Amino acid sequence: MPELPEVEGVVKSLQPIITGRKIVAVTTSDILKKSHDDGKEAIVKAMHPNLLAELLVGMTIARIERRSKYIYFYLHTEGEQYILVNHLGMSGAWFHVAALEQIPEAKFRKHAHVFLQLDDHHFLIYSDIRRFGELRLLKKIADYPPLLQLAPEPFEEEAKAFFLGVCQQPKYAKKAIKEVIMDSHAICGAGNIYATEALFAMKIHPGRKVSNLTEEQLAQLFDKIVDVLDESIAFGGSSISDYRNINGESGSMQNRLKMYGMKKCPMCHTNSQQILIANRNSYFCPNCQK
Ligand SMILES: [Zn+2]
Repeated sequence: MPELPEVEGVVKSLQPIITGRKIVAVTTSDILKKSHDDGKEAIVKAMHPNLLAELLVGMTIARIERRSKYIYFYLHTEGEQYILVNHLGMSGAWFHVAALEQIPEAKFRKHAHVFLQLDDHHFLIYSDIRRFGELRLLKKIADYPPLLQLAPEPFEEEAKAFFLGVCQQPKYAKKAIKEVIMDSHAICGAGNIYATEALFAMKIHPGRKVSNLTEEQLAQLFDKIVDVLDESIAFGGSSISDYRNINGESGSMQNRLKMYGMKKCPMCHTNSQQILIANRNSYFCPNCQK
């Protein structure tokens, strides 16, 4: 699943290409339409794909921002403003191409679901192999309240105090620390990969209860999470599973990971172990992480 650095990579690659472009036509896949006709909402949430397509035509993409693991496309048309909110889910990807055939990998061509034709004779295409991604057209962010409940961006001044405050709350104090790191109500942007890496760097067992960590340890852990996210952004994110940026490229942070997916601990060479935390497989070194 793309985490903050991967989503940042997508946004950074989109910004110079599609900012200021107008959407001149929109089509969606039959799979999405059928899903809505069957009472499900694959990818396009809270409105039928036909209505989404109708509303998007004529809108100009004013700017693109990342918030946590979401992409916000700010759109405007004749004085009206909308925000198209996208979560990439497990395998969502955007491509800017003159034709579908130009998407380099067959699996992304096969699972192309939303086609935005722009005024630059190109398409902005949303592909999603597993269809766990989301597209939601809002008039304002508050129209989808879960977005208001996200923790501050981890690079913002108040994020550390916010995280430490959340850790004090009784319902979080009794949780495993890794679960709290992956909870965007506590700190935004870290999923399984970067939570695993930050805990390994701090020599903290992923299953350790939050209440068993001192405020000093939690503060250092927060700083380490930010360091790991920063490092990954610098290396273009991790190319694990189906992450691609708009140019079909993926990053190289996977070569710098020390514990996620590793058979052995790189520090002491003990075999790594895995436990299930919040339904995610968690790698750790039983020797180094306590
Ligand atoms: Zn070790």
